[in-house]
Amino acid sequence: MPRPIMATISVGAMQHNLQRVASSLHEQARGLGREAPRVWAVIKANAYGHGLAQGIAGFAAADGLAMLDLAEAVACREAGWQRPIMLLEGWFEPQDISVVDTYGLTVSVHGEDQLRMLEHARVARPIHVNLKINTGMNRLGFAPHAAQAAWQRLVALQRRGVVGELGSMMHFSRADDDPAVTRDQLAVFKSLAGSMPGFVSVCNSAATLTPALWAQLPPERTQWVRPGICLYGASPFADRSAADLGLRPVMTLSARIIAVQQCLPGASVGYGHLYTAEHPTRVGIVACGYADGYPRHAGTGTPVTVAGRATRLLGRVSMDMLAVDLTPIPEATVGSPVVLWGEGGPSVDAVAQAAGTVGYELLCALAQRVPRRIEPPASPLTGAVTGMNALAGES
Ligand SMILES: *Cc1c(COP(=O)(O)O)cnc(C)c1O
Repeated sequence: MPRPIMATISVGAMQHNLQRVASSLHEQARGLGREAPRVWAVIKANAYGHGLAQGIAGFAAADGLAMLDLAEAVACREAGWQRPIMLLEGWFEPQDISVVDTYGLTVSVHGEDQLRMLEHARVARPIHVNLKINTGMNRLGFAPHAAQAAWQRLVALQRRGVVGELGSMMHFSRADDDPAVTRDQLAVFKSLAGSMPGFVSVCNSAATLTPALWAQLPPERTQWVRPGICLYGASPFADRSAADLGLRPVMTLSARIIAVQQCLPGASVGYGHLYTAEHPTRVGIVACGYADGYPRHAGTGTPVTVAGRATRLLGRVSMDMLAVDLTPIPEATVGSPVVLWGEGGPSVDAVAQAAGTVGYELLCALAQRVPRRIEPPASPLTGAVTGMNALAGES
């Protein structure tokens, strides 16, 4: 029998979350009398640890897929994805441009090096480009004072047939927690994008779920939002849970109890003896450790569910095991099911918070050695045919 640990990936939950995001965008846009933003479903990092194939299936109704890796983009095309594919960091070397060209990928152009490579490129078909502007995150993008000149060079490339559709993009650094910083970044973007016709793309999950933000962009411009984490059923906000946002967890990490120890007062558990029993304590040993992707920094008190009941982690997480408190769950024994995070257990965000990190990191860090079980959707995948508008209930 294989080691009793499993990550279940629900393609139905992916569909649900995309539909949830899309229908709220449509509803709000209707209220504002404007066109709803189009959705790039972000599937970088192997679809945030859920697998590229699941991303393609679960987000079949999205207007496009966004990612980082050229090979992943090619894999999506080869898997039959025909709508736009966006490379969020663009490309890295001159020879990549021919792959971008061959597979009809949309790219971000965020720096001078890329612009120069494009000026020396020969392409069979024009490449769709998002000019990335650095509005204060200071990661990627042209500085505001250099953006206009970069745009003019892209317009020249458009005339030569090297560039196809043109748009502008930016990235928020604090859309999840600081409206003032976000307002400033948006003001910088709007002051520049006003003279750069074409589509605009500014919103990650936090901004996509904040209608007051995307609604500030001019209604006549086609907007593409770029939600990632929310589509996987985790929250981009520290103070709002995914459940409150109407999202369903996509990944459920489950395992079993493989041993039980009776600890008398004064007995300690695990490496470093970080937990010492004050009362008689029944300790369950779970077949999950940091080599499976469970965070080692999660300490005593981290939520976990055993046999359907909430309890807590005890002591330090080992490489292959962790300990949980079975004292309040007398019926739990060897073989009892454990949910580390996901459906029927704590949210990945709650576990992440206990470990001083974010749900993103835990989902992306699920280890290769954990077997995956893919749960197919209850309803057939119609999105690829009907598109986002049909999905959101529009004609
Ligand atoms: C990862 C990423 C996103 C998605 O961010 P989430 O917080 O997961 O929604 C959007 N845009 C860019 C440029 C990204 O790199």
